[in-house]
Amino acid sequence: MNYESAGKDQFLALFQRLPVAGILVQVSDNNVLAINPAFEHLFGWKSEQVVNHPSGQLPVWLDTQQRKHLLEALARDGSVQQFESRFRCHDGKLKPCLVYIEQLEVNGELCRLSMVHDMSERIAAEQALRDSEAKFTALFRDAPEPYALFDKRTARVLEVNKRFTELFGYKPVDVIGKTALQIGLWVDPSKRPAIINQLLKDGYLRNQSAELYTASKHIIECEVSSSFVKYGNKSQTLTSFKDVTEQKRIEAQVKHLAYHDALTDLPNRLLLNDRIEQHLGLGERHGLSCALLFFDLDHFKHINDSLGHSNGDAVLQEVSQRLLSQVRKSDTVARLGGDEFVVFLTGLSGDLDQVTEQARTSAEKLLASVAAPMQIQGHNLQLGCSIGIALAPAHCNSAEDLLKYADTALYGVKANGRNAIALFEPHMQVIASQRLQLETELREAQQRQQFTLHYQAQIDARAQRIIGAEALLRWQHPTKGIINPGLFMPVLEDSGMILEVGHWVLRESCRVIASLIQTHAVDPDQFSLSINISPRQFRQSDFVQQVAAAVSDQGIPAQCLKLEITESMMLQNINDTVAKMHQLRAMGIHFAIDDFGTGYSSLSYLKRLPVDLLKIDQSFIRDCTHDSNDAEIVRAIIAMARSLKLELIAEGVETPEQLGFLQQLDCHAYQGYLFSPAVPEQAFVQQLQSMGESMGSE
Ligand code: C2E
Ligand code: MG
Ligand code: MG
Repeated sequence: MNYESAGKDQFLALFQRLPVAGILVQVSDNNVLAINPAFEHLFGWKSEQVVNHPSGQLPVWLDTQQRKHLLEALARDGSVQQFESRFRCHDGKLKPCLVYIEQLEVNGELCRLSMVHDMSERIAAEQALRDSEAKFTALFRDAPEPYALFDKRTARVLEVNKRFTELFGYKPVDVIGKTALQIGLWVDPSKRPAIINQLLKDGYLRNQSAELYTASKHIIECEVSSSFVKYGNKSQTLTSFKDVTEQKRIEAQVKHLAYHDALTDLPNRLLLNDRIEQHLGLGERHGLSCALLFFDLDHFKHINDSLGHSNGDAVLQEVSQRLLSQVRKSDTVARLGGDEFVVFLTGLSGDLDQVTEQARTSAEKLLASVAAPMQIQGHNLQLGCSIGIALAPAHCNSAEDLLKYADTALYGVKANGRNAIALFEPHMQVIASQRLQLETELREAQQRQQFTLHYQAQIDARAQRIIGAEALLRWQHPTKGIINPGLFMPVLEDSGMILEVGHWVLRESCRVIASLIQTHAVDPDQFSLSINISPRQFRQSDFVQQVAAAVSDQGIPAQCLKLEITESMMLQNINDTVAKMHQLRAMGIHFAIDDFGTGYSSLSYLKRLPVDLLKIDQSFIRDCTHDSNDAEIVRAIIAMARSLKLELIAEGVETPEQLGFLQQLDCHAYQGYLFSPAVPEQAFVQQLQSMGESMGSE
């Protein structure tokens, strides 16, 4: 190129404005003719530090070698299109640059025009890219999660990382070049298309759960996440496989525990409620009914107490198996805790009578299966059970009400003797709420000490003497006056309050005995006070100790205290009964069998037990003077007592005729309205005094 002198100024002006750093050197003497502002800016050298200096001495060169190479290239090719090197800046730093050199004539003078591009940014960018690729490779390879890289187009595996090979048990060579289908990862390949479509649609997948096979054909549950990445100009799919098998197993276990009873693995109340609500909705739509059967094992507590908890648990497990074996898959057997089982029958069709019939039939079948004899760890047991039934939608339409109504019906069964089935009836609800009310009032009565004892004298008609008394519980109601135990005793029993109340009766009676002896109202050798012992009270493991403590606390002779128990109570757990009675008898405590004749009247038991006295039940006395049957029974009881050498007392003697009948049979001891009803302590003391006086006056 040749620039005339006229054009030299123009050229230099143009040179100055070049956006690229430029330096112009005269070839003849190698002196620098000019640098432009871009050059100054790039290297920080000022024009005066460079211009008119020999090019070879410029501080930009790192060494002479560098310049020599450049000039050789120029000489060889006539121009230099790309020469990459680093040059020194004014501040001493080195800058990577790309140099272009043209030879040209300016005003007849041959010159070299070098244009210098700063490469720092590009090199930095390239380095960053290399770094990031290295980082990606490292991350991929050593990631703590299993990763696979697929070709986006062919879906073949390009690479897998270490964790992938560990989790799935494949070597990289086993999988590279194959699709997931070819490897056999999918447990259910039919799920694949939908997942792939999702990935293509959204451009990513997040925690898509999938069941996958490992190399050894174990099924693992993974959360699969995918996204597309560009790597080396290729579109790829980066997929992670998070193994959540263990996590899912624990989750399922926790969920199972929350909804099941640990002992029997049956659904618990929570799950039962769920199922009921679900089926109530379903039944409504299809016009079907459901029945809820509420079970209560009769005397289960007693098995637990006498045979121990492990046997109790085994019984509950056996019952749960029996119930399960009797119902359809669609029905639910649940345990609500303790001995409370529920069977929820669904899909019952027909009118109310038909539904009732189906529920009853099922209940009978279930009752028979539970009541069949069972062998538990060497014990032969036979359980009774009671069932209360409520129907939906006939009775109600919520889980809560169904359970409540079935429970109410169950309560009715228990009140009318056990081992039976009862269907809910609306009037039961009234009874149940009254009972609840009564229970609340009784708790208050106990707190406010409204219980008291009345004493009914026991007379020896021949000797005209008070030989003892029976302590009978009374409730001094603030507004209703004195209430007899018939009205509230069952509630005290069921609620368990009888334990505390019974304990009070025991201690109060001992106090009264002590007081009667101390005031010489009675002769301790010829007087005893009887107290009634409830079955629950007697079953307490420390009952014997309670009696011993009450007697010794008052310092009374033990034979002044007589415990009244019933026949049915003795038979409930004969071994426990025998043991306790013997311990108490050894202390000097006497026993009376209350209401004798109404139970089993089993001679063999009576012989085994340390019983002192039989109380002929008042129901036989009531009619003994005009009902030959009752007269016969009374005769038989008296004969039996005599042969067993037991004392006798007749209960409920109201008329002289009744007493006459008894005395004919040589039975002289009685209690009853004929002499006196039960009276407060003070009044009883007076009876003792006046009786003693009348005797004394004889
Ligand atoms: P029980 O032990 O058989 O008591 C006899 C019941 O007959 C008493 O009723 C008594 O008042 C009543 N009676 C006495 N003489 C006559 C009579 O000539 N004619 C009639 N018709 N009845 C008579 P009460 O006091 O209402 O007690 C009822 C039941 O409550 C008792 O029957 C007993 O089983 C229970 N009981 C009473 N006090 C206690 C107690 O402190 N603890 C426990 N566990 N039960 C008690
Ligand atoms: Mg009694
Ligand atoms: Mg009685």
